[in-house]
Amino acid sequence: MKTTPQILKGMRDFLAPRMRLRRYVIDTLTTVFERYGFEPLETPAVEYAETLEGKYGEEADKLIYKFEDRGERRVGLRYDLTVPLCRVVAMTPDLVRPYKRYQIAPVWRAEKPQKGRYREFWQCDVDIVGSTSILADAEVVKVVYEGLTALGFQSFVIKINHRKVLTGLAMYANVPTDQIAAVYRVIDKMDKIGLQSVRDELSAMGIAADTIDRLLAVCGTRGSNSELLANVQAKLGNIPVGAEGVSELNELVAYLEAIGVPESYYQIDLTMVRGLDYYTGPIFETTVERPRIGSISGGGRYDRLVGMLGGREYPATGVAFGLERIVDVIEELAMAPAAVTAPATKVLVTIFSPELIDPSLALAEQLRSKAINTETYLGADRLGAQLKYADRKGIPYVIIIGPDELAAGVVVLRNMQTKEERRVTASEVVVLLGV
Ligand code: AMP
Repeated sequence: MKTTPQILKGMRDFLAPRMRLRRYVIDTLTTVFERYGFEPLETPAVEYAETLEGKYGEEADKLIYKFEDRGERRVGLRYDLTVPLCRVVAMTPDLVRPYKRYQIAPVWRAEKPQKGRYREFWQCDVDIVGSTSILADAEVVKVVYEGLTALGFQSFVIKINHRKVLTGLAMYANVPTDQIAAVYRVIDKMDKIGLQSVRDELSAMGIAADTIDRLLAVCGTRGSNSELLANVQAKLGNIPVGAEGVSELNELVAYLEAIGVPESYYQIDLTMVRGLDYYTGPIFETTVERPRIGSISGGGRYDRLVGMLGGREYPATGVAFGLERIVDVIEELAMAPAAVTAPATKVLVTIFSPELIDPSLALAEQLRSKAINTETYLGADRLGAQLKYADRKGIPYVIIIGPDELAAGVVVLRNMQTKEERRVTASEVVVLLGV
């Protein structure tokens, strides 16, 4: 009995036009990553479950796809590219450090699928392992700016916060230790639900009024980067961990200026928290106004993760671009250059009749040898059917070689868009269709 073919929820197939767009995004980002000295890395899709477990936080851990393999080993599909990177670093002591790598690959999370949220999705990661310098964090932010700019993004904001500032702020406001995570989950929603709703939710959780006031006197204020940093410095200056965070943010901002990230593209945002447990320093998240879609990149510093994987502890920082959301934005705002989604085939050589297959095949080979992407029609169907095939596939040119053309040593070159037909020699075709 035949079954209806199905695809798993949150997972997708990509056919030609979208596939080309994805490749364009990957190629563009790769060019930017390599311009900054990042080297490629690939790791397996499947890791030991214990490598993945206990790294992301309780909620995220539930989303890891886990199963037993044929040898009854507990394994899992990678949840991100950061933990596999740290495993590689822990297993490869002789890496040249700082180790700068990029990895562009699929990851899997058992999330509830919705717009911009899939179960299989690609991340494009750049990370620097082995540097405590804030310069490394600044470079990561610069790569986000460069990558998105190279893809034609014009209005985006890289939000920046610092885990030490959040720790210091929790101390300053006397947030009970066991409620810190929950409090920040609410504060993280500030953009979505607004100041008053955040206040109400915190209050409903039983957080003291004075604590809420202190928290919101820092997180709830708006202003320029320097105003916000001055405000948080004034409040957290006496709390060592907080002061350290503020000082690193100041340093980061100074470096961003030095490496040419315009201030309009980044914003200190003390409400931005980020879910993953492993961050220890500056954190980054990029959002766009339009279309309404979650963050298009996210990252930060994670100085303890390599150590958690069994190796020596190495400081590290990095960012993941979300390929799916970037592609969704480019599609929705029609940002891709037309050539990106155009078919790669330049010309279809038709088959006039069974007797004339050979000259068509020979010409196609000649064009391919000149690096012109050429299809031959596979059979001697009616010419109309062959032209329709080219038209449906968006192939811009068609070549017809009938008995008259063969006798005269020429071919008919048809422009499928203008429908103009010219009788030209094979070498003229090479010139006309060559790049
Ligand atoms: P994270 O690893 O959660 O920090 O995510 C980094 C980036 O990956 C985000 O900014 C998103 O662009 C992308 N991303 C995260 N989760 C998903 C998902 N379920 N579907 C598509 N993209 C995602």
